[in-house]
Amino acid sequence: MKFIIHTFGCQMNKLDSELVAEALTAAGWKMTADENEADAILYNTCSVRDNAEQRVLARIMQLKPVKKQRPGLVIGLMGCFAQRMGAKLFDQLPHLDLVCGTRKFPQIAALLESARSGPVVAIEEETLVAPGTLDAHGRSLHDGMQAYISIMRGCNNFCTYCIVPYVRGREESRPEDAIVTEARTLVEKGAKEIILLGQNVDAYGKDINSSLAKLLYRVHEEVEGIVRIRFVTSHPRDITEDLVRAMNDLPKVANYLHMPAQSGSTRMLKAMNRGYTREEYDRKLEMVYRLAPTALIASDFIVGFPTETDAEFQTSVELVRQARFQNSFVFKYSPRPGTVAERTMPDDVPEEVKLARNHELLAAQEEVKIKRTEELIDSVQEILVEGVSPRNAEKMLGRTASNLICVYDRTVHADNEIGTLQRIRVDRATPLTLFGSKVEA
Ligand code: SF4
Repeated sequence: MKFIIHTFGCQMNKLDSELVAEALTAAGWKMTADENEADAILYNTCSVRDNAEQRVLARIMQLKPVKKQRPGLVIGLMGCFAQRMGAKLFDQLPHLDLVCGTRKFPQIAALLESARSGPVVAIEEETLVAPGTLDAHGRSLHDGMQAYISIMRGCNNFCTYCIVPYVRGREESRPEDAIVTEARTLVEKGAKEIILLGQNVDAYGKDINSSLAKLLYRVHEEVEGIVRIRFVTSHPRDITEDLVRAMNDLPKVANYLHMPAQSGSTRMLKAMNRGYTREEYDRKLEMVYRLAPTALIASDFIVGFPTETDAEFQTSVELVRQARFQNSFVFKYSPRPGTVAERTMPDDVPEEVKLARNHELLAAQEEVKIKRTEELIDSVQEILVEGVSPRNAEKMLGRTASNLICVYDRTVHADNEIGTLQRIRVDRATPLTLFGSKVEA
């Protein structure tokens, strides 16, 4: 029996797909890249953005004639979208066989088996992160260089525009020991960079008397052979001095923080229920730059949130300039069904205004980014070497802690540098790529 999984959405979804693939493989299924030979076609979906949902619906609609020709084929929809919609999906997609929510992945093999004899909906709340359930799996990305570890799931914040707490449930941290063991296993299998994942990763440990700072120290000290450690995504309110100190002091932890602001206006932040004011965000930024002066910070913004005025939008533009973010991900607001904003706040900012704000904020961020990247000229950057540049076989390619691509000359022994950290003096920079030469130890 063969399966194929199509993944839409965030890193958490990609990790979930890997876990599902692993569970199915353990149950005797084989993964295929060819839908024509698949006995099960699975879609793992994101509910955070409307276009991911629409794309998945369209893709599954297209499978209707295929299902007619191959009635034994199982078509499954998993993840946040499945969790949100449940059995209602069968109304739109009568040829669908399986709806599997975010917390039912461990039973995926049994669910697929049942779905072969009739439609199945599995969306009950149930912990996925109980000790042992996710341990020591051997997934990896980028040819084994990077591997994700889910250290916690869920979110307690209830931002008014966000569906995550409803589809992923409340925060649950995995035990430190399980995470350290999993990191060791992944590094033994060849991973060099471990990315610790959580919807609200810096809330890690609140429920188990631990903290992300403590976990970073443990992974750093106890996982032999690990080269770099990252963590995403943080909530500004939960970024503590201890966490910033750990990031700054531990050489293998990337000095990079994703600190989504969402807006520069306190009134908008309140409407979004973000849990901090603009002043509090500014103070947090100041703390991060004071304790980790070389840290690079990225942000997220929503433009066109209900009732956002031009003046309020301009506070976001001003924040991008003031905070000197390395990068910002900008989203036009769209109401997500089931959220407080969708129920109580009319989507009253016209689409063309949202689009114009989106462009203006991105343009401001691009200016800042160009300046910041140019400032790196003449600096020495530590990069994790990924391999030979796909565009130029005479160059090696790696990434800085802030995920900037960095390219340097390939020497005779350069292939031995793959998977190691190298120090590169930057002599040229474009917004996306640094160019430099190796600094010998
Ligand atoms: S912090 Fe807010 S935006 Fe982030 S997952 Fe939780 S509710 Fe959603």
